[in-house]
Amino acid sequence: MDCKSIYSGSIPEHAYFFLNKSPSGGIGRHKGLKIPRLNKIMRVRIPPWVFIINNNMSILKILFYPNKILREKSKIVKKYDNILKKNILNMFDTMYKNNGIGLSAIQVNINKSIIIIDILKEKNSKLIFINPKIINKKGYIKSKESCLSIPNKNIIIKRYKYINIKANNILGKKIIFKCKNLLSICIQHEIDHINGKLIIDYNK
Ligand SMILES: [Zn+2]
Repeated sequence: MDCKSIYSGSIPEHAYFFLNKSPSGGIGRHKGLKIPRLNKIMRVRIPPWVFIINNNMSILKILFYPNKILREKSKIVKKYDNILKKNILNMFDTMYKNNGIGLSAIQVNINKSIIIIDILKEKNSKLIFINPKIINKKGYIKSKESCLSIPNKNIIIKRYKYINIKANNILGKKIIFKCKNLLSICIQHEIDHINGKLIIDYNK
């Protein structure tokens, strides 16, 4: 999703997510960094240790409409390995470089169900959802959206105002994430990409 996208509503409050499982062994501390206990409500952040594996910036090529790959359905992620982490890091580099606030892996020719989001100007609120699915929705909101894969196009779309999604985090742990307004719009936009759906499809 392009940062030029706007929506009618207030700036979103902090998003919280709820993990429905207690931590398994192995996660907890890394290089002196305390990772919050998973059964607590916390702000979603990419675990900092992920950055240790790759300090080089990699900008990937964004696919543009009408590239047929954008119509493919993204495959479910089963392996939570270093390749996945590298994919995600490269996606963030690419999204920031292109002034995006959301990106789906298929847009950079990676056929995996991964979406990343950062709607804050400070670019310090990274969200990662792997195999995301909307499990609850409520209310409507209109948004004017643009897409990194379809430059110079704005489409007004009616989205759900509130959504709950389930997904996996970068460690493969199940998470339930509740959000509203811009964040909700952005997640719906990126989940559409996973299903091969584009903003222009709403114009018909
Ligand atoms: Zn898009």
